[in-house]
Amino acid sequence: MIVECGTCGTKNRIPEKKQHEAPRCGRCGEAIDLTGRVVPVELGDHDLQAFVAGSRLPVLVDFYSPGCGPCRSLAPVLDSMANRFYRKVVIAKVNTELHHGSALRFGIKGVPTLLFFRNGILHDQLVGVPSQAMLADRLEKLADGGRRG
Ligand SMILES: [Zn+2]
Repeated sequence: MIVECGTCGTKNRIPEKKQHEAPRCGRCGEAIDLTGRVVPVELGDHDLQAFVAGSRLPVLVDFYSPGCGPCRSLAPVLDSMANRFYRKVVIAKVNTELHHGSALRFGIKGVPTLLFFRNGILHDQLVGVPSQAMLADRLEKLADGGRRG
């Protein structure tokens, strides 16, 4: 993603995975505010495990398939949650059609399936499309638990 620095106007390229690591402008060094622009992090077989294990924030992973209608209806909800929970929970997604290994590893039987990780450990999961309220509630719980350690 390309985000303009609010201070000097330089356009900064920010990798999706670095969104939650307090990005700074490459030119003037000011912090770049991503509020409202955060997008879910696309992960796959090569990086899912390492990302979830290494994230200091809890991570929600959406296992989806591009051809699945319910998954498509969930996508804008996840985009909005990625912003609502910015700096509290990382919202990530895995395309199960491209990344069979990850789906197998976590025993994904249908899409969408949402897995909630904290400190690299699976804490909660939801199968199917939850209501926005239910999803927000589960994310709050995940984030709160993270703060208590
Ligand atoms: Zn700048």
